[in-house]
Amino acid sequence: MAFPDGAPGGRRAQPTTMNTRLMTSVSEIQTYTRDVRANGRSLALVPTMGALHEGHLSLVRRAKQQCDTVLVSIFVNPAQFGPGEDFDRYPRNLEKDTQLLSSLNVDSIFAPSQEEIFPPGFETYVVPGKLASSFEGASRAGHFRGVSTVVLKLLNLAQPDLAYFGQKDFQQVQIIRKLVEDLSLGVRLVICPIVREPDGLALSSRNAYLSPEARHAAQVLHRCLLRGETLVHAGEVDVKPLLKEMRQVVETEPLAKLDYLAIVNPAHLAPVERVTAGAVALVAARVGTVRLIDNLIFGPPGASPELLLQLAFTSQPVMDLGARIPGLETEALRRRIEACRDCAAISSVLIPPREFLAKYLKRDYPDLNRVRVVVIGRDAPMDSDHYFYQHPEKPASFSAELYKLLGVESFQEFKEAFALTDALRCHVVSYRVPEKALTYCARHLREELMSFPNLQSIVVLGPDAYLQFQRFVLGRSPGEIKPFEELLKAQGWAQEEVRLPDLKAGPLRMIYCYHPMTGYKHSPSLASLFQSLSH
Ligand code: AMP
Repeated sequence: MAFPDGAPGGRRAQPTTMNTRLMTSVSEIQTYTRDVRANGRSLALVPTMGALHEGHLSLVRRAKQQCDTVLVSIFVNPAQFGPGEDFDRYPRNLEKDTQLLSSLNVDSIFAPSQEEIFPPGFETYVVPGKLASSFEGASRAGHFRGVSTVVLKLLNLAQPDLAYFGQKDFQQVQIIRKLVEDLSLGVRLVICPIVREPDGLALSSRNAYLSPEARHAAQVLHRCLLRGETLVHAGEVDVKPLLKEMRQVVETEPLAKLDYLAIVNPAHLAPVERVTAGAVALVAARVGTVRLIDNLIFGPPGASPELLLQLAFTSQPVMDLGARIPGLETEALRRRIEACRDCAAISSVLIPPREFLAKYLKRDYPDLNRVRVVVIGRDAPMDSDHYFYQHPEKPASFSAELYKLLGVESFQEFKEAFALTDALRCHVVSYRVPEKALTYCARHLREELMSFPNLQSIVVLGPDAYLQFQRFVLGRSPGEIKPFEELLKAQGWAQEEVRLPDLKAGPLRMIYCYHPMTGYKHSPSLASLFQSLSH
């Protein structure tokens, strides 16, 4: 997207290449991001301090996959450096960074001056809480105050849909996540795995400071983490002996001096006594003159980096399941995690109860061949205590209404031919989800539909599920989708035949009707349509 003439009120835009726009002033970026939103395009923000390397670029690539417009900020933030730290000598190379970002077709770069972000008289700071008191916060007084302040300012200026951060700075991620939650910022955070050199050293702009000897020695951090991981996979989950062994690895390297090494609960960063899935080892050390940090999330052997991230960021549910290592073979959990992996929006996602479906399907549907009709509803209650598949003696009001609509008496009868699932479930209760991300999610719904080899029909309840199904599962453009009300006007329901390319079953009969619980209109009973299905 090119803006050759610059935004009104801002300094003239400085085109870098045909496609990437470089902005330096606050007013420019405000106007720019307003235009992006006005054009209905989703926006990703990737905050960086520049001196870009493959770690940064992995964030940018992910952002390009998930959002229409990608904005990378480059700002060496003085507020996060303490006295005597490396603010002055921090590597800066805007020209090279710009070239790299242009080559990835990044839409825009925001590279403000110090005065632009902290003009004279600036005096308001964000003070993070307990999460910031240990580890990096303890070693670098005021660091996270500076980080939180500038991140909040960047989020306010850009108002992105998604913001991208690296697992490399694990504590920072948790602090920003809390900032987003506590101050109701409404942005979703996407966390990307650590990118490493072939010898395991995590990429960092500060690696440039390392002398050749220190560069060689620096791999000891990763070796220390791997030692812990190997021991955990071998069955050692007691943290004390683990830390002892890990420390010894660092001690073999004379150039390295440990600052801290701990294994913590990923959510509140308190040290744990036993390692469970999602626990994180945090390490910081001075190697030669350079201070480096690294971390590792514990999970089952062979777990992908994304799975590990999800384990750490959904730690409570994982811990509730007693997910020990090794042996995290809970298929349901994996499914739950993978179900939402591609949209990867972590912060405000209500991780969907996909594992409940898996669990209840196993329990209630020994023969999936029997399912001929999948009902897609928006309000199949997502809370596990009230979940549809709990099917208590007396059906919850939603279940009762649904049975009435379909013409069945009870759950026993329902499961003879029907199954219930949600639309793009993690998003129905949220907002500002980029379309690209929803498209990824739709794949999971399609995959779920494929569990039923004899599927004949899909009942879609209510306008939200209808729109999502039309748009993201059937891939129709907004212009092709008939307004829900208009479609249902004649008889209170409507049907059409569709083919889902990846579904083996033949053409599907789609049935659209009002949601039995929400709204004031009701569809007539569909019982006659389904009479021949049961038994
Ligand atoms: P920085 O420029 O150091 O502030 O980093 C900008 C973003 O890139 C932060 O969210 C970092 O966590 C992330 N990042 C830095 N190094 C890496 C890496 N090796 N792998 C993945 N992400 C990284």
